[in-house]
Amino acid sequence: VTTVGVLALQGDVREHRDALEAVGVTTVGVRRIRELEALDGLVIPGGESTTIDKLLGIFELREPLRALLRDGLPAYGSCAGMILLADRVVGGTADQQTLGGIDMTVRRNAFGRQVDSFDTELEMAGVDGPVPASFIRAPWVEEVGPGAQVLSTVTGGPGAGRIVAVRQGALLATSFHPEITGDTRVHEYFVSIVRKER
Ligand code: GLN
Repeated sequence: VTTVGVLALQGDVREHRDALEAVGVTTVGVRRIRELEALDGLVIPGGESTTIDKLLGIFELREPLRALLRDGLPAYGSCAGMILLADRVVGGTADQQTLGGIDMTVRRNAFGRQVDSFDTELEMAGVDGPVPASFIRAPWVEEVGPGAQVLSTVTGGPGAGRIVAVRQGALLATSFHPEITGDTRVHEYFVSIVRKER
């Protein structure tokens, strides 16, 4: 059995759990340290990165999670989750922290305000054919370091040329939300990373 935790402090936890279960893994909502035991992988959902960050402190999950990510726990973050996996953030609040792990700088709310949210289709390395992608007050990636691999960039419209999917080892991050499109191939791709690692 492959068990993937979904960090359940805030954000679209249900949508990620449904997508993961649709591709055949067992999921657990993670709120406590003991729920981090025995996970093969972790998803950090979309939501509000500043809120998730504060709750990581309150629930005393920040340091245990950083340690697990350092030790190679596969993780996938969408949108706010991408921000939490980034080593550097611009446009964050003054005291905003991340878990880190991916050598990249993300810009929060880069595509504009809520009204600038949009749906599109993207090519993404690791997934065959165009991927439907929902951008909701999404970050983009300003730059990646040598260890990080760019999987997708926006081809046209707002943010053309910007990086929106990155992988570094067993860590995966997307600016967009595949979990609300009904297309589960990005989750399938993440689960293939999880199964290779464990
Ligand atoms: N703008 C949010 C943030 O900065 C992310 C939005 C999302 O996850 N849909 O955390």
